[in-house]
This record gives sequence, structure tokens and C-alpha cells, in this order.
Amino acid sequence: MKWMIRVDMEGLTGVVDMAQVVPGASEFAFGKQMLKHDLLAVIDGLLQREDDRVVLYDIHFYGRNVDFDWLDPRVSAICGKPNYTPANGSFLDASFDGVVLLGLHAKAETPGAVLNHNYEHDIRSIHVNGLCVGEIGLEALMAGEAGVPLVLVTADDEGCRETEALLPGTLTACVKESRGIAAALCYSPAVTGPLLTKAAAACADAARRLQPFTVAGPIELALRFKPGALLDKLRGTMAAHMVGADRFVIRGDSVIAAWEQYLIAKA
Ligand SMILES: [Zn+2]
Repeated sequence: MKWMIRVDMEGLTGVVDMAQVVPGASEFAFGKQMLKHDLLAVIDGLLQREDDRVVLYDIHFYGRNVDFDWLDPRVSAICGKPNYTPANGSFLDASFDGVVLLGLHAKAETPGAVLNHNYEHDIRSIHVNGLCVGEIGLEALMAGEAGVPLVLVTADDEGCRETEALLPGTLTACVKESRGIAAALCYSPAVTGPLLTKAAAACADAARRLQPFTVAGPIELALRFKPGALLDKLRGTMAAHMVGADRFVIRGDSVIAAWEQYLIAKA
């Protein structure tokens, strides 16, 4: 089977602070170590047969967080910051059997959820046709538009709860329990490794029963921002989409197309 793992870092084993996940920050080496740990465990569960394939897409910061010395030959990776256009379909197409979100976290302003946010920390909320989503929901919708189901999310307990409420049936693997925005009760890697492998090994069955997640009709993407430099910039580059002091509404034929308009406007 063919899988895509979208790689984030805030929801990895042991990670509780931005200093562990921002490239160049003081404890980033620890974050990378935990990324390797969780990725290896999930890849181990996904690659059951010789012809199984995994494509990693590193969506965290500059997309250069995955070390390559240990990658299985059946794994390739999209790294760096690619040109994002509707034509690339978020690098997904119907040849994939399922998407795994690795190291995810709850959406912004989820009370008590460790490292909760929506992509840039300036985005207070994201609504797609009225449905409030964070990164988990938006990534699931983009995969859904490509005809691919979201099969597994690895995250803290709040990220897992958010997944289960929005996407019943999607598998979750919880590596820590939130104890606030910068704290969690973290399970030992000796526990999360086998847990992640077991969850990944269940993906083949899940992919057969799960449907791609989509919303009907033309897309209305509403984004609300905190005050700051990004909002100031978007007031210029997305003036036509502005509704009120801190809100933008983008319309498009698809979630991918609407999100792309935002990515271009903020670049
Ligand atoms: Zn994230």
C-alpha cells in the first residue's frame, strides 16, 4: 500500500515546549531525536510488505526536520518549502491509500492543550463552511479532496480527542496527556514506540473502511487573526477578503485552492 505521513513536531513523544521544535532553538536537537523515534515506529508499522511505500511530507517550519541517514529505501520525503499551487493538490492523489498525521496537536485556543495552535501562531480560528477546524481538520479536508482518507493521527490526548470528535473511525495514538500550553504527562518512548507501531499496523484495515473527509459545495474559508505583523501584512495583501478588523473570508472551488490563496498572500 502507499501512504503519506505529514510530519509535524508539537505532538511528538516528550515534546512540551516550542524551544524543542523551532529550528535553531536551544533544545531543537531533542525534538529531532523524538521525531526520529516516532517516525521510525510509525514507518515500522506501515511497511508490512516489500511493495509498501511511504512518502513523508515535512510540513513543520522550513520542512527540513527529518534526518536521512536512517530512512528505509521504501520511504521518500518532500522536504523544504515547495511552491504551493492547487495543481499539486497538496502532493496527494488517488494513488495513496491513506494519510497519517504525525506529531499533531489540538487547534488554537483549546483550553489546556499542550502547544495548541493553527499553523502560524497568529491564526486564532479557521472555519471551513462554518466548521471550526485546526490543522488536523484542515489536513483531513485537503486529503479528502484528493480522495484519500485520514487514517491515523499521533498527538497528545487533546489532539486525539479533537480527531475522534471530528473524524469518527480515524485511528489515534496518544503519546502524552496535556497539562497546559507548555506541559504534559509524557509517556516513555519505550511505551510510545510499540504503541505507534501497533496503530500504524492497523492502518491497512482502517484505510479499507474509512471514507475521504469532505465538505459539500463551494468552499468558504474564514480565518481570524491575533493582532500583529502578519495581520498587518494581510490587511494589504488580502484586503479584498477582509471582513471586520481581524477576519478574512476566502472563497474557492476547493479547500486546497482557498488555502493556497492564503499561503500566497502571507508569503
Ligand atoms: Zn502544527
